[in-house]
Amino acid sequence: MATRRADADQFVVDFPALFIAVDWIERHCRIPDGFRAGRPFEMYPWQAWCTLNHYRVRQDAEWIPDDPLMGTAFYYRRSQIIAPQKTGKGPWSATGVALEAVGPALFAGWAGRDDGWVCEDQGCGCGWEYAYRPGEAMGMRWPTPLIQITAFAEDQTDNIYRPLKSMVRLGPLSDLLRVGEQFTRIIGTEEGRIDVVTSSAQARLGNPVTYVAQDETGIWTAQNKMIGVADTQRRGLAGMQGRGQETTNAFDPTQKSQAQLTYQAKAKDIFKFHRPPPKHLKYEVKANRRKIHEFVYRGSTHVRIESIDAEAQELIDKGDLAQAERFFGNRMAAGAGVWMDIEAWKARKAPREVPDGTAIVLGFDGSDVDDWTAIRAETEDGYQFTPTYGLAGLKVPTIWDPAKWGGQVPRLEVGAAVKELMTRFVIVRMYLDPPYWTTEADAWSAEYGEKKVIRWATARPLQMQAAAERLHTDVTKAESAWSHDGCTTTEAHVEATHKLPRPGGRYVLTKPEDGRKIDASITSIICHEAAGDVTAAKLWPAKTRRRVVVRG
Ligand SMILES: [Zn+2]
Repeated sequence: MATRRADADQFVVDFPALFIAVDWIERHCRIPDGFRAGRPFEMYPWQAWCTLNHYRVRQDAEWIPDDPLMGTAFYYRRSQIIAPQKTGKGPWSATGVALEAVGPALFAGWAGRDDGWVCEDQGCGCGWEYAYRPGEAMGMRWPTPLIQITAFAEDQTDNIYRPLKSMVRLGPLSDLLRVGEQFTRIIGTEEGRIDVVTSSAQARLGNPVTYVAQDETGIWTAQNKMIGVADTQRRGLAGMQGRGQETTNAFDPTQKSQAQLTYQAKAKDIFKFHRPPPKHLKYEVKANRRKIHEFVYRGSTHVRIESIDAEAQELIDKGDLAQAERFFGNRMAAGAGVWMDIEAWKARKAPREVPDGTAIVLGFDGSDVDDWTAIRAETEDGYQFTPTYGLAGLKVPTIWDPAKWGGQVPRLEVGAAVKELMTRFVIVRMYLDPPYWTTEADAWSAEYGEKKVIRWATARPLQMQAAAERLHTDVTKAESAWSHDGCTTTEAHVEATHKLPRPGGRYVLTKPEDGRKIDASITSIICHEAAGDVTAAKLWPAKTRRRVVVRG
């Protein structure tokens, strides 16, 4: 059966909706950037379709002047839009935020003859008027809009907030909104505002809200606490009869993301928009891939398919076909699998004291501002642990999260820890991943011996895979006696470690897309590698003989 390229004509709006919403947006919002910046934002058919569905009014919605229906006047309680990268989700979401802030976003009854919207009455100096047809659903502004633009990380909130700021700068919205870096004030309201929030804004997340734009929910997981954020925001919306909207790329079905939960939710009052490509087209086949891109980007006329092909190819060349298929092919492709069965890892937990003076090896993976820095240690009999350091009996684990140290790994602190470990234990070998730490690596080599402190670059795929396999085997094989201390950070990082498949059955270890860290897991691998190499080279020092004093 031939699949025809569907076109805009499939969008038949045969239900009541705030049609004024689309017209208001096209009148007040601007193309935020590029050569056409500043021109009116004309919605693509798929965008208008999503807007009209979100503002679909219930047939039986009643107008009660003293106590108007808010969210409950609408057919859908929330919406989810799944569309490929660069289709224009961010700017479109920004138009929704603008509408909820200062446009006709609430149901205001059914129009009679001569009913209309007059911008001048709404504090807007653009001079626009809109005449309703009799019987059409009318719109009105929220009295006090409380809006949150939400994403996992600060820079991701820019997907929506940056185009919004441009739109305000370039058009009549500047009469109505005063934009700041962190929030936007809604002029003419007492407390109306648009906030930009991430999971770190715990206090504000519990606030009552009238509208929430949640971006990239495909990487909102329980592990990165964003599922909790989504739950909290939905409670905040429910309290105000507000409504929310999710935008995302196609999600990875192994991640149990917020996007996946919404997509699979049985509730009838969620509008879902996703146009997957025809099933028979294979993303790994280049000629098919072009057809897939033409299909999923139809209607987004600013997109050049050649550049999408090129970007997808680049990701595929890096070994991430699944991510390319999700980002650009609009399909829920399963990504990299987990590296370690976390239950097997947990089963190896057997904490014990390692007395000072014990011969051990160390693994060190150093970072700078974003990733964590960690040191793990292992004994000759295969017990791995996170050592502690600190003066005056303080026991500080040797894992440093830069966020807890003012945004940067505390190098002096790390240096002090290494120094203490070198004196307290018999360090047989230390493997150290050099990036960011070459100066320290050289200094430690010079001080403690170049046969002891050895650079071990984790960026070498073959060696790294072999080391990962070595630890994996010793964790999973029944006859292995290997054990560890149950360090919770290491466990979390091991759980987050994913395998990115490479040609020829090879793989590289990688972070999951939800932003979790894996540094302590990498450290664990190179530490175990050091232990294995020392054992193979018979370098463990001879055990000190226990002196038996015979009294007699
Ligand atoms: Zn206006």
